[in-house]
Amino acid sequence: MDKHVVIIGSGLGGLTCGYILAKNGYRVSMLEKNAQIGGCLQTFTRHGVKYETGMHCIGSMEEGQALHRLFNYLSLLPDVKLRPLDKKAYDIVSIAGQRFSFANEKEDFIQALAQHFPGERDNIWRYYQTVKDVANDSPLYSFRYKDSLTLLNPSYVKHSASEFIEEITPDPLLRQVLAANLPLYAGIPHKTPLYIHALIRDFYHKSAYRIAGGSDAIARSLTRSICSMGGEVHRYAEVARINCNDVRATGVTLKNGEEISGDYFISNIHPQRTLSLLHTPLIRKSYRDRILGLKNTISSFTVYIRFKKNRVPYFNSNLYHYNETDVWNCAHYTEADWPKNFMYMHLCSSVDQPYADAGIVFAYMDFKEVARWQGTPIGRRGEAYDAFKQQKAERLLDELTKQMPDVRGNIERYYTSTPLTYLDYTGTEDGSMYGILRDCTEPVQTLISQRTKIANLFQVGQNINSHGILGVIIGSIITSGELLGVNTLIEQIKKAYHNE
Ligand SMILES: Cc1cc2nc3c(=O)[nH]c(=O)nc-3n(C[C@H](O)[C@H](O)[C@H](O)COP(=O)(O)OP(=O)(O)OC[C@H]3O[C@@H](n4cnc5c(N)ncnc54)[C@H](O)[C@@H]3O)c2cc1C
Repeated sequence: MDKHVVIIGSGLGGLTCGYILAKNGYRVSMLEKNAQIGGCLQTFTRHGVKYETGMHCIGSMEEGQALHRLFNYLSLLPDVKLRPLDKKAYDIVSIAGQRFSFANEKEDFIQALAQHFPGERDNIWRYYQTVKDVANDSPLYSFRYKDSLTLLNPSYVKHSASEFIEEITPDPLLRQVLAANLPLYAGIPHKTPLYIHALIRDFYHKSAYRIAGGSDAIARSLTRSICSMGGEVHRYAEVARINCNDVRATGVTLKNGEEISGDYFISNIHPQRTLSLLHTPLIRKSYRDRILGLKNTISSFTVYIRFKKNRVPYFNSNLYHYNETDVWNCAHYTEADWPKNFMYMHLCSSVDQPYADAGIVFAYMDFKEVARWQGTPIGRRGEAYDAFKQQKAERLLDELTKQMPDVRGNIERYYTSTPLTYLDYTGTEDGSMYGILRDCTEPVQTLISQRTKIANLFQVGQNINSHGILGVIIGSIITSGELLGVNTLIEQIKKAYHNE
């Protein structure tokens, strides 16, 4: 076959497509603008400690579960070491002066919440079951053959997560607790569709893990595999333009002027960025206007904490804290009440460490706060930016200390990232965490297709299908399926798994 596929961006979506297509005989060239491969799978190391930037916790990794099957197909299992989170409390929610645990197994999940809400046991059961049904209903998430273009039941796309939770229970506090993992998708009330909430919740209900030693292991493994199958992965290769003739894409021009031609092109970058690389009448104004008009999910401010040696016991849960009693309202903050919420977790450097070397805490932050420094060089944005970061970091650490009093005295040093950091490192618009905001009131307009108006140019990544490790890998199957057939890929995944 030997058709040449050029992939723009080496995030999880680009790498997964690269792997699938190279495995199926395509010649793959991956082009990454940064020094490091992986996009959100990037890590950074300071004074011997590694910090994750955009992949902290993965789920469904037990034998037979969805991500385990996909990791098996992608040859990732030998290279990615995992440490399970606490099965009885993988997530802890702190709200209204109380703490609530989320457990993995169904009975444990129901019991853990029912002890706080004894009259709500049946509704908690209904919540668990509906979330599971939504996930099972998707043919791709359960590896059933795709016989139509409908990948998700339209009612899960048109129904909002917030309304679904309101329908589940009349208890105002339980409603907040059930929605409290929403920093994982930056949800908006009455807009974020039910399927996003349900797929993420079900993913972690099944099992939850940290990646020991860093999620860059995923990027390294996929890169090695692609190269071993004859593909090429180029760093410092920023695509400045996608070139087209009257009917199709013909090649790309890099920032350094180099031109690379190909038969097919896959863009793993934000769709609004992809449009900025295209100067062709093949893209109609109406399509351009629609995509450019879409809103993005909010960004975040993160403090990466280095602990003093052997002082802070490793904490095997994720903590979501809310100062605000309406968990859906935390993205609307003022200078005075920021941060309204935060998420905190320890980073996992080995499968058995008794003490944490590092932790991270992050809170929502609007890009507007840092917009005045846009365009300044990384590491040299000026004193005002440094002062801004320090002031925000101290504020966030003060809030963290109220919930985890032992943390402050054990900090050796810390580092920070802002929405500008994400903008520069992953190229998402406004440093948005999860890309385009899905809106159940405008389901068609806010769903991005893997196809573009140019027949041999496709898209992949968190804006196609869904974000997160499972959402992006499933999206990669949809995109690669344009060349290979989705059913062929499902067959390959099943066959690779114990020859099913
Ligand atoms: C703070 C944070 C925490 C998260 N935590 C989790 C988690 O715990 N679990 C989970 O499952 N998911 C998590 N996610 C989501 C997950 O990381 C992402 O959905 C996923 O990794 C995005 O992959 P992607 O394929 O869209 O590519 P991206 O990661 O967006 O990568 C795109 C790549 O394209 C490159 N690029 C951009 N422009 C160009 C150009 N012109 N030329 C060449 N290359 C270019 C970029 O440098 C980048 O490498 C988190 C995300 C964030 C932001």
